[in-house]
Amino acid sequence: VFISFEGGDGAGKSTQMKLLHDHLVTDRSVSEDLILTTREPGGTPLGRSIRDLLLHGEDVDPYAEALLYAADRAHHVATLIRPHLARGGLVLGDRYLDSSVAYQGAGRELDADEIAALSLWATGGLLPHRTILLDVPPEALDDRRAPAARDRLESAGVAFRESVRREFLDLAAEDPDRYAVIDGTLPREEVHAQVLAAVGEVLSL
Ligand code: C5P
Repeated sequence: VFISFEGGDGAGKSTQMKLLHDHLVTDRSVSEDLILTTREPGGTPLGRSIRDLLLHGEDVDPYAEALLYAADRAHHVATLIRPHLARGGLVLGDRYLDSSVAYQGAGRELDADEIAALSLWATGGLLPHRTILLDVPPEALDDRRAPAARDRLESAGVAFRESVRREFLDLAAEDPDRYAVIDGTLPREEVHAQVLAAVGEVLSL
Protein backbone atom coordinates (compact mmCIF):
# COMPACT_ATOMS: atom_id res chain seq x y z
CA VAL A 1 0.00 0.00 0.00
CA PHE A 2 1.25 3.47 -0.88
CA ILE A 3 0.23 6.50 1.20
CA SER A 4 1.46 10.00 0.37
CA PHE A 5 1.43 13.10 2.55
CA GLU A 6 1.02 16.48 0.91
CA GLY A 7 0.79 20.08 2.00
CA GLY A 8 2.74 23.29 2.28
CA ASP A 9 6.14 23.57 3.89
CA GLY A 10 5.86 23.23 7.65
CA ALA A 11 2.33 21.76 7.50
CA GLY A 12 3.46 18.86 9.70
CA LYS A 13 3.92 16.12 7.10
CA SER A 14 7.06 14.60 8.58
CA THR A 15 5.70 14.80 12.15
CA GLN A 16 2.48 13.04 11.14
CA MET A 17 4.35 10.42 9.12
CA LYS A 18 6.48 9.63 12.15
CA LEU A 19 3.43 9.42 14.42
CA LEU A 20 1.74 7.05 11.96
CA HIS A 21 4.89 4.95 11.59
CA ASP A 22 5.30 4.67 15.38
CA HIS A 23 1.64 3.84 15.86
CA LEU A 24 1.84 1.02 13.32
CA VAL A 25 5.02 -0.43 14.82
CA THR A 26 4.18 0.02 18.51
CA ASP A 27 0.41 -0.35 18.71
CA ARG A 28 -0.29 -2.52 15.67
CA SER A 29 2.85 -4.70 15.72
CA VAL A 30 3.65 -4.00 12.09
CA SER A 31 7.24 -5.05 11.37
CA GLU A 32 9.55 -2.07 10.75
CA ASP A 33 10.93 -3.79 7.63
CA LEU A 34 7.49 -3.60 6.08
CA ILE A 35 7.37 0.21 6.30
CA LEU A 36 9.37 2.38 3.93
CA THR A 37 9.33 6.00 5.05
CA THR A 38 10.60 8.17 2.25
CA ARG A 39 10.48 11.66 0.77
CA GLU A 40 10.59 13.72 -2.41
CA PRO A 41 12.71 15.27 -3.59
CA GLY A 42 15.62 13.26 -2.28
CA GLY A 43 14.49 9.70 -1.45
CA THR A 44 17.48 8.14 -3.22
CA PRO A 45 21.18 9.06 -3.60
CA LEU A 46 20.47 10.45 -7.11
CA GLY A 47 17.43 12.22 -5.67
CA ARG A 48 19.55 13.84 -2.97
CA SER A 49 21.82 15.30 -5.64
CA ILE A 50 18.77 16.57 -7.52
CA ARG A 51 17.33 17.99 -4.28
CA ASP A 52 20.55 19.85 -3.65
CA LEU A 53 20.49 21.31 -7.17
CA LEU A 54 16.86 22.35 -6.83
CA LEU A 55 16.95 23.85 -3.38
CA HIS A 56 20.43 25.26 -3.09
CA GLY A 57 21.64 25.79 -6.64
CA GLU A 58 21.05 28.56 -9.15
CA ASP A 59 17.52 29.66 -10.04
CA VAL A 60 16.17 26.89 -12.23
CA ASP A 61 14.06 27.49 -15.33
CA PRO A 62 10.48 26.27 -14.57
CA TYR A 63 10.55 23.62 -17.34
CA ALA A 64 13.94 22.35 -16.18
CA GLU A 65 12.61 22.35 -12.61
CA ALA A 66 9.58 20.26 -13.62
CA LEU A 67 11.85 17.77 -15.39
CA LEU A 68 14.23 17.51 -12.44
CA TYR A 69 11.36 16.72 -10.05
CA ALA A 70 10.06 14.18 -12.56
CA ALA A 71 13.54 12.63 -12.87
CA ASP A 72 13.80 12.37 -9.08
CA ARG A 73 10.36 10.75 -8.97
CA ALA A 74 11.05 8.30 -11.79
CA HIS A 75 14.20 7.04 -10.09
CA HIS A 76 12.55 6.99 -6.66
CA VAL A 77 9.63 4.92 -7.90
CA ALA A 78 11.77 2.53 -9.94
CA THR A 79 14.45 1.86 -7.34
CA LEU A 80 12.64 2.17 -3.99
CA ILE A 81 8.86 2.47 -4.09
CA ARG A 82 7.90 -0.20 -6.63
CA PRO A 83 10.30 -2.82 -5.26
CA HIS A 84 8.96 -2.21 -1.73
CA LEU A 85 5.34 -2.45 -2.90
CA ALA A 86 6.20 -5.62 -4.81
CA ARG A 87 7.40 -7.15 -1.50
CA GLY A 88 4.00 -6.39 -0.02
CA GLY A 89 5.33 -3.43 1.98
CA LEU A 90 3.78 -0.15 3.04
CA VAL A 91 5.23 3.07 1.62
CA LEU A 92 4.78 6.35 3.48
CA GLY A 93 5.81 9.17 1.15
CA ASP A 94 6.53 12.75 2.21
CA ARG A 95 5.28 14.39 -1.03
CA TYR A 96 4.57 12.75 -4.38
CA LEU A 97 3.18 13.79 -7.75
CA ASP A 98 0.53 16.15 -6.38
CA SER A 99 3.35 18.35 -5.08
CA SER A 100 4.57 18.74 -8.66
CA VAL A 101 1.11 19.62 -9.90
CA ALA A 102 0.78 22.19 -7.10
CA TYR A 103 4.30 23.69 -7.09
CA GLN A 104 5.47 23.34 -10.69
CA GLY A 105 1.95 23.57 -12.11
CA ALA A 106 0.08 26.18 -10.12
CA GLY A 107 3.11 27.73 -8.38
CA ARG A 108 5.34 28.08 -11.44
CA GLU A 109 2.34 28.53 -13.73
CA LEU A 110 3.01 25.57 -15.99
CA ASP A 111 0.06 23.57 -17.30
CA ALA A 112 -1.19 21.38 -14.44
CA ASP A 113 -2.41 18.61 -16.75
CA GLU A 114 0.94 18.48 -18.53
CA ILE A 115 2.76 18.27 -15.20
CA ALA A 116 0.49 15.44 -14.07
CA ALA A 117 1.00 13.65 -17.41
CA LEU A 118 4.78 14.06 -17.11
CA SER A 119 4.78 12.46 -13.65
CA LEU A 120 2.51 9.65 -14.74
CA TRP A 121 4.80 8.97 -17.69
CA ALA A 122 7.86 9.03 -15.42
CA THR A 123 6.37 6.61 -12.89
CA GLY A 124 4.51 4.21 -15.15
CA GLY A 125 1.26 5.65 -13.83
CA LEU A 126 1.83 4.91 -10.14
CA LEU A 127 -0.67 6.70 -7.89
CA PRO A 128 -0.92 6.45 -4.09
CA HIS A 129 -3.80 4.46 -2.62
CA ARG A 130 -4.43 7.34 -0.25
CA THR A 131 -3.16 10.91 -0.08
CA ILE A 132 -3.32 12.89 3.14
CA LEU A 133 -3.45 16.63 2.54
CA LEU A 134 -2.47 18.61 5.62
CA ASP A 135 -4.06 21.93 4.85
CA VAL A 136 -2.65 25.02 6.54
CA PRO A 137 -3.05 28.63 5.37
CA PRO A 138 0.29 30.24 4.36
CA GLU A 139 0.05 32.87 7.10
CA ALA A 140 -0.13 30.15 9.75
CA LEU A 141 2.92 28.39 8.25
CA ASP A 142 5.09 31.46 8.66
CA ASP A 143 5.08 31.09 12.42
CA ARG A 144 6.24 27.49 12.35
CA ARG A 145 9.77 27.62 11.01
CA ALA A 146 12.60 29.96 11.85
CA PRO A 147 13.57 32.05 8.78
CA ALA A 148 17.11 30.63 8.86
CA ALA A 149 15.74 27.08 8.46
CA ARG A 150 13.93 27.96 5.25
CA ASP A 151 15.29 27.09 1.84
CA ARG A 152 15.01 29.15 -1.33
CA LEU A 153 11.43 28.12 -2.13
CA GLU A 154 10.14 28.41 1.39
CA SER A 155 10.96 32.10 1.28
CA ALA A 156 8.54 32.44 -1.66
CA GLY A 157 5.75 34.98 -1.31
CA VAL A 158 2.30 34.42 0.13
CA ALA A 159 0.71 34.62 -3.36
CA PHE A 160 2.85 31.70 -4.57
CA ARG A 161 2.04 29.64 -1.50
CA GLU A 162 -1.64 30.53 -1.70
CA SER A 163 -1.86 29.25 -5.29
CA VAL A 164 -0.06 26.06 -4.24
CA ARG A 165 -2.57 25.59 -1.43
CA ARG A 166 -5.53 26.22 -3.80
CA GLU A 167 -4.22 23.66 -6.25
CA PHE A 168 -3.86 21.01 -3.53
CA LEU A 169 -7.44 21.68 -2.43
CA ASP A 170 -8.67 21.49 -6.04
CA LEU A 171 -6.84 18.20 -6.59
CA ALA A 172 -8.40 16.83 -3.42
CA ALA A 173 -11.86 17.91 -4.50
CA GLU A 174 -11.38 16.19 -7.88
CA ASP A 175 -10.39 12.87 -6.34
CA PRO A 176 -12.13 12.44 -2.97
CA ASP A 177 -11.61 8.67 -3.04
CA ARG A 178 -7.84 9.04 -2.94
CA TYR A 179 -7.60 12.23 -0.90
CA ALA A 180 -8.30 12.98 2.74
CA VAL A 181 -8.06 16.68 3.64
CA ILE A 182 -7.13 17.36 7.25
CA ASP A 183 -6.96 20.74 8.96
CA GLY A 184 -3.26 20.99 9.78
CA THR A 185 -3.80 23.83 12.25
CA LEU A 186 -5.42 21.44 14.74
CA PRO A 187 -3.35 20.08 17.65
CA ARG A 188 -1.04 17.34 16.42
CA GLU A 189 -2.75 14.55 18.41
CA GLU A 190 -6.05 15.52 16.79
CA VAL A 191 -4.44 15.56 13.33
CA HIS A 192 -2.91 12.15 14.13
CA ALA A 193 -6.35 10.75 15.04
CA GLN A 194 -7.73 12.01 11.73
CA VAL A 195 -4.77 10.52 9.84
CA LEU A 196 -5.50 7.14 11.45
CA ALA A 197 -9.14 7.39 10.43
CA ALA A 198 -8.10 8.32 6.89
CA VAL A 199 -5.70 5.39 6.42
CA GLY A 200 -7.77 2.87 8.37
CA GLU A 201 -9.65 1.67 5.34
CA VAL A 202 -6.67 1.16 3.01
CA LEU A 203 -4.61 -0.47 5.79
CA SER A 204 -7.51 -2.54 7.17
CA LEU A 205 -6.87 -1.19 10.69
O1 C5P B 1 8.87 18.99 1.73
P1 C5P B 1 10.26 19.49 1.67
O2 C5P B 1 10.58 20.51 2.72
O3 C5P B 1 11.26 18.41 1.60
O4 C5P B 1 10.35 20.27 0.27
C1 C5P B 1 11.52 20.94 -0.08
C2 C5P B 1 11.19 22.15 -0.92
O5 C5P B 1 10.89 21.80 -2.26
C3 C5P B 1 10.06 22.96 -0.41
O6 C5P B 1 10.46 24.31 -0.38
C4 C5P B 1 8.96 22.76 -1.43
O7 C5P B 1 8.24 23.94 -1.50
C5 C5P B 1 9.73 22.46 -2.70
N1 C5P B 1 9.06 21.57 -3.64
C6 C5P B 1 8.68 22.01 -4.90
N2 C5P B 1 8.12 21.15 -5.78
C7 C5P B 1 7.91 19.86 -5.46
C8 C5P B 1 8.29 19.39 -4.19
C9 C5P B 1 8.87 20.26 -3.29
O8 C5P B 1 8.86 23.18 -5.20
N3 C5P B 1 7.38 19.03 -6.37
